Amino acid sequence: MKVYDTLVIGGGQAGISVAYFLMRSQLEYLVLDDQERAGGSWLQTWDSLKLFSPTEYSSLSGWAMPKSENEYPTKNDFISYLEQYEMRYNFPIQRQTKVLSVCKENNLFLVKSNKGIFYSKTLVSATGRGQNRFIPTYPNQKLFTGKQLHSIDYRNSDDLFGKKILVVGGGNSGAQILAEVSEVAQTQWVTLEEPYFLPDDIDGRYLFNSATQKFLGKANSSSVIKVSLRNIVMVDSVKQVRNRNVLLAKRPFLSFYEQGVIWKGGDKEEFDIVIWCTGFKASLKHLDTLNIIENNRIKTQYTRSIKEPNLWLVGYGSWTGFASATIYGVGKTARQTVKEIVEFLNH
Ligand code: FAD
Repeated sequence: MKVYDTLVIGGGQAGISVAYFLMRSQLEYLVLDDQERAGGSWLQTWDSLKLFSPTEYSSLSGWAMPKSENEYPTKNDFISYLEQYEMRYNFPIQRQTKVLSVCKENNLFLVKSNKGIFYSKTLVSATGRGQNRFIPTYPNQKLFTGKQLHSIDYRNSDDLFGKKILVVGGGNSGAQILAEVSEVAQTQWVTLEEPYFLPDDIDGRYLFNSATQKFLGKANSSSVIKVSLRNIVMVDSVKQVRNRNVLLAKRPFLSFYEQGVIWKGGDKEEFDIVIWCTGFKASLKHLDTLNIIENNRIKTQYTRSIKEPNLWLVGYGSWTGFASATIYGVGKTARQTVKEIVEFLNH
């Protein structure tokens, strides 16, 4: 029976960031990923997606993303960078391997997958959020006879010409998909609160610098404009539609009816399609068997599970380290995670 020092579940940017630091240790490790190729959930994003983080802020530890003609990389630029990053370091990654459950056996982790069983002394879960889409529930949602899709299922606006479309969600996905769809269809945007657009000259660069200052405890409220990684970055496609009144958002409707939605005042409005740009929750199903999940989170000290101290969680969002669900932020949490694993195994 082979026992790894560490198994990393998930081979997206978080999993391979952890692999980078594991490679520099003497530990024996393996990354298990259910996709056919490199790219993680970037493989499932819409065709025209451009990153809001410029090239120098879209790099993982050790090897910077090569400059291209695009200041903001396209989704394919970034997937190609992830492919090259993996090849450059030749990480041990077993693809098309979906982890189904994890349990403890004699102080070891027993990891069951569609490709068999693996054993390890420690475990890193880096399964991201792409497989756990969040769609809020509204009264009579099932009565609606139009189409409903989540942003992860949206590819392009090819089949949407002339349709009437409701886009729900006030983040970057909502704003960018709305901008694209509005070129060919009639749209209405729904957001919980008035959307917050960052000034034109503030892009991922500023967001990440501000995030880093916060991470280092150096944020100075008088010098830092109040920004959050959830604010809308004015990428070109969003800037282009702002003069067409497309970005005017309404607050949520009361309920669905067969042909559309009913607004707060009682007015009904027909729609053909609803696109839910309402985000994701951590994909933790494979860890259900450990009985440590509360409200779809696991209590952690930085990235280490408190109840199951041989388990680390990387890349899920602020509860696993500040800006850990971003390309720029994940390296810090990956480095610290591997440091803790090495210390733990050397004791
Ligand atoms: P993922 O990329 O989801 O990787 C997880 C991997 O684990 C996947 O391959 C998945 O298939 C696999 N997996 C899941 N469950 C299992 C299992 N049980 N067994 C085996 N494998 C499993 N960040 C930025 O820094 N800049 C940006 O411009 C930016 N733009 C974004 C735009 C959009 C539309 C979105 C959604 C996010 C954006 N982000 C951006 C945020 C972030 O960088 C991405 O969400 C990133 O993909 C998260 O990486 P990850 O490795 O944590 O998760």
